[in-house]
Amino acid sequence: MLDTSSAIGIDIGGTNLRAARVSGAGAILERVSERIDREADAAVRRIVELVRQLDRPEVTAIGIGVPGRVDARRRAVLSGGYLNLAGTALAERVEGAVGKPVAIDNDCNMALVAEIAVGAARGRENVVMFTIGTGIGGAIVQEGQIVRGRGTAGQLGHITVDVNGAPCVCGRRGCVETTSSGTAFARHVLEAGLPSGTTLDEVIRRAAKGDEAAGRVLDAWIRPLRAAIDSAAAAFDPDLVLLGGGLGKAAHRALRKAPALAPWYQCPVMAAELGDDAGMIGAAVSALIEHRSPILPPVPLALATEPSALERPA
Ligand SMILES: [Zn+2]
Repeated sequence: MLDTSSAIGIDIGGTNLRAARVSGAGAILERVSERIDREADAAVRRIVELVRQLDRPEVTAIGIGVPGRVDARRRAVLSGGYLNLAGTALAERVEGAVGKPVAIDNDCNMALVAEIAVGAARGRENVVMFTIGTGIGGAIVQEGQIVRGRGTAGQLGHITVDVNGAPCVCGRRGCVETTSSGTAFARHVLEAGLPSGTTLDEVIRRAAKGDEAAGRVLDAWIRPLRAAIDSAAAAFDPDLVLLGGGLGKAAHRALRKAPALAPWYQCPVMAAELGDDAGMIGAAVSALIEHRSPILPPVPLALATEPSALERPA
């Protein structure tokens, strides 16, 4: 295991604010979860209070996963959803209040860091992750590093699967988020005349028994997701595609109904393991990686939980 240092990881979700003190080996030592305040300033004040509550002398850094577009290198939140933290100087305010370094990143990047450190992608260096919930988020790790592009790469929910499709929040049409998110699933259910509140697992069960309406819903939801996964596989050639978020496990089951169509761009697809804990664990692990030792070069995420990798001489 690393050493005795730990970090605080915060996951800002659509509904809940989750915070935990996490060991250098990625284990949750203490946790708090509560409903989130949708007003940005109140939410930032509450985050500061939670950090103070969980803080201990051995805590060396704080990581915060934020929904929406985040430029992690500049520590800037560029856009948000229900709770818009753009322009709140989130990292600086928490840092100023607590006096310990703060790292922020997109929540999907944090979740993927956790899955590589202690979850389903343990030890992998090339991983693509789709986070499927109300919307669809994404994250990409190549050669052990998060792919950032100019700042916000990895928005896999905005892979186009239908050029004539429904309008998307991003301003374009037919993004996979418009066909295969939780929101899109509810719409397919209504359009097929199934009872509202029908779950994805119920649709999978009904479709397997030959229910035509359920079969149409499943097709409309899972085939575009398969197309997006195959596009990501073609673009990034990952070891593994992970499906996370609230619908990740069910999506993985549904994907049996939509196998890859051709051999060129295929790779294993797995469900993520850490569930709702991924964001907190990843935020803490990211903060430890970023603030452990600034004189050393970046360490591939897959090696980051090995003490020899973090503590080797530069
Ligand atoms: Zn879009």
